[in-house]
Amino acid sequence: MRICEYSPAQLVGKSFECSCGTTHTSAVKSVTVEDGAIEKLAATVKLSGASSAFMVCDENTYKAAGETAKRLMEDSGVKTSVCFLSAEPGFDRPEPTEQALGNLIISYDGSGGVIVGVGGGVVNDLCKLASRAAHVPYIYVPTCPSMDGYTSDSASVIYNGVKSSINCKCPDYLLCDTGIISKAPEKLLLAGIGDMCAKLISICEWRISNIVTGELYCGEVAEMMRTYRRAAMENAEAAVKGDKKAVEAIINGLCLVGTAMTYARSSRPASGVEHYYSHLWDMRCLEEGRQCELHGIQVGVGTVLSLEKYEKLKKIKPDRKKALDHINAFDQAGWERGVREYFGRSAERIIEIEKKEGKYDKEKCAARLDRIIGNWDAIMDIIDEELIPANELITLFKRIGHPTSPSEIGESDASAALAFSHTKDIRDKYILSRLLFDTGETV
Ligand SMILES: [Zn+2]
Ligand SMILES: [Zn+2]
Repeated sequence: MRICEYSPAQLVGKSFECSCGTTHTSAVKSVTVEDGAIEKLAATVKLSGASSAFMVCDENTYKAAGETAKRLMEDSGVKTSVCFLSAEPGFDRPEPTEQALGNLIISYDGSGGVIVGVGGGVVNDLCKLASRAAHVPYIYVPTCPSMDGYTSDSASVIYNGVKSSINCKCPDYLLCDTGIISKAPEKLLLAGIGDMCAKLISICEWRISNIVTGELYCGEVAEMMRTYRRAAMENAEAAVKGDKKAVEAIINGLCLVGTAMTYARSSRPASGVEHYYSHLWDMRCLEEGRQCELHGIQVGVGTVLSLEKYEKLKKIKPDRKKALDHINAFDQAGWERGVREYFGRSAERIIEIEKKEGKYDKEKCAARLDRIIGNWDAIMDIIDEELIPANELITLFKRIGHPTSPSEIGESDASAALAFSHTKDIRDKYILSRLLFDTGETV
């Protein structure tokens, strides 16, 4: 059986000798995706070896599932303390900042109780980091289908003002109660659908990077993502209308993405340039002190914008002289000025990171250019195989009420264009904007 044929629950505890030369394995000990999964919470706490629980939630998720979770644990003799994450002034939901993580760790009494996260992505990310720091097991009970980091072993946090992915640990146990999750506000479901659609771009760029940079690519993990991305798109309309089976299909995909990232030992299966739009919008919002849009919605809009850009890329044929002139004209001081202007207080960290990564190193750029020109037809074939027309996604999004343009999420076309130009600056991941830099092209 191929990896893509297993359900999230069936993958637990298995390791796969893969054709990519890697043994794929994940440290998640159990995954339950079913209506009423929360009923297994007390038994799961006991399974983890703990006799007390430190439950993390926010006001909304306490009402959605936290109250029930607390009662179920206490009824079974599990001493439970509750830590509420709160939004900072001017924000309507908590953000994954150092401050929030610090508050959480200070509240933990250190008694060795299991951490139980009840909530969305922010709760999960902070609990993953706290359970790593405290060396205690972690049980995650998601309350919404808004993002795909349920089982991943990295946490997305705002660290020194930069949106960063920090390697930590995955939840030990995932209790995905489809009855609870399907009651989440519709916008959160739209966000989950947006995050699944991003896999169009992420898989395409993973394959392009494999050609251009030699990065390890796993066809099995990629196929797993395609399978669940297609299922999410096919079930999107029914899910938005409240069809439980359709919501479950989307949740299954969201559960698997984290495992796929663990298998690939990178975020490649999950995110590409479309996610960088989101990271940059988040950083700008933080800089300007305004609330950003939900991650999955930003990513959905980023996917539309990225598909449009790939359509334009297909009309280009790279020119070696033009590309080399562009690579050699790179001006470090000018780049640093641009980074300082755009990123504000996180600029110095980005400049520091670049010193280690050398993304604009002229020799490395020229070597990549050789591989790009030598494999241009193969790169175009990958784009044809992996992507769909932008209009197809726009039509689906319009039908389900998912935003399709920056203006619908509080961003302008100019801010989207500026964000795109800086997507190449934040991390050493080969994405569309890096390919454009290496070829001296703009789309
Ligand atoms: Zn593999
Ligand atoms: Zn995402």
